[in-house]
Amino acid sequence: MAKKKETKKTKSKELFAEFPNQYKVASNDDIAATMAFAEEYKAFLDASKTEREFAKNAVASAEELGFVDISTKDTLNAGDKVYSTIKGKGFAAAVIGKKGPDAGFNILGAHIDSPRLDLKPNPIFEDNDTVYFKTHYYGGIKKYQWTTIPLAVHGVVFTNDGKSHEICVGEKDDDPVFYITDLLPHLGNAQMAKKASEFIPAEDLNVIIGGIPVRDEKTKDKEIYKAAILKLLSEEYGITEKDFVSAEIEIVPAAKARDVGFDRAYIAAYGHDDKVCAYPALRALLAQEKPARTCVTLLTDKEEIGSYANSGASSYLYENFLMELMAKADGGIDKFNTLKFRKALAATKMLSTDVTTAYDPKYASVFEKRNTAFMSCGLKIEKYTGARGKSGCSEATGDFIAEITDILDSNSIPWQTGELGKIDAGGGGTIAAVMAELGMDVVDMGVPVWSMHAPIEVISKIDLYFLYLGYKAFIENIK
Ligand code: MN
Ligand code: MN
Repeated sequence: MAKKKETKKTKSKELFAEFPNQYKVASNDDIAATMAFAEEYKAFLDASKTEREFAKNAVASAEELGFVDISTKDTLNAGDKVYSTIKGKGFAAAVIGKKGPDAGFNILGAHIDSPRLDLKPNPIFEDNDTVYFKTHYYGGIKKYQWTTIPLAVHGVVFTNDGKSHEICVGEKDDDPVFYITDLLPHLGNAQMAKKASEFIPAEDLNVIIGGIPVRDEKTKDKEIYKAAILKLLSEEYGITEKDFVSAEIEIVPAAKARDVGFDRAYIAAYGHDDKVCAYPALRALLAQEKPARTCVTLLTDKEEIGSYANSGASSYLYENFLMELMAKADGGIDKFNTLKFRKALAATKMLSTDVTTAYDPKYASVFEKRNTAFMSCGLKIEKYTGARGKSGCSEATGDFIAEITDILDSNSIPWQTGELGKIDAGGGGTIAAVMAELGMDVVDMGVPVWSMHAPIEVISKIDLYFLYLGYKAFIENIK
């Protein structure tokens, strides 16, 4: 049966899926809010380069808004705000809902570790009058990207007297920085002929930390350059070479988050993956007063190496936090019921808030354009991650995706979708798979990133802003 031409035209537009650039279509108010939110993010990011720093700052932000350590409460009621740290490297916080935890949780989960160079346990050596740190890279990096850039040293050293000594050098304008050399092009013929994965071996990622010897003629030290650095570290931080065994020192780029472009559309920074999701996930939770369902934000460590260890998403410590919420909301820890908790997990809805790659026209061959995220086109929903035939993937159910897209559409929050890249080009995973094992509905949602896992990555400010609104809409509207 023939329809009127006019009706057909209107309907045709509605039939197509479109994911427009938001800088083109967003309201002026949204653009202004985008720029303001980006300033707050950059400030938090600059102060939170490591998982320990992020967790510490998350606690401070939560306490400022009335959150208390969950261990200080015996029972919990609607509107109560609690948090817990996970070994100082992860963070969990919740606002108790009117319905109570047995109705299921609304969870935002991000990771706060980022690719970097860790120190080896016995890291200091001297070679040709120069002193170095030996490093072991953490997460998936292109090793050559870490040479010839200014680096900072962040971390903590634990000494046998029970004290901890924090170190952060390379961030202040008058701080020294640290550096990994590369070969001059004049002599680089053989090096340049090698594969990019091979021309900077991992064992060559040695960081320069000093070059002035002990200038006392009576010294009997053989390694006078190393001795001078050890003396300096002892005076400044009260540590000896042995203490590096119990240290957690991370080498990260010595750079602040900066706007990119004359129009300041983007942000270049270290560690967007995954702090660009962790920050809005934290903010969305902190904005809750008395939500319908209990809202939770989990910020995990060790995602970049597989979510292992007691601070990674696989750790029972995150599950313990949810158990404690439930037990205390039911009247105390002796009131805990395992089946009731498992059923609450089955009724739980979670966003695994992690980044994805943005389409980059320079590298078009690894993308399938119809199924990839584009910069500034809004947050990205990724139904599944994994690699090659969905191997190792966590796939969300279609009905859960529909529930989310309905919430986003009814709150006018722009979203896009797709996969990480072409099917056999590679792949990756997130904490979604770990959380899905507990029985909850979980799907990945984050922003597209250019140069993911590089020392400095790039995101779009407008994607970040809508991501925040998306996370907020999710925890407030899953009823
Ligand atoms: Mn990530
Ligand atoms: Mn990553």
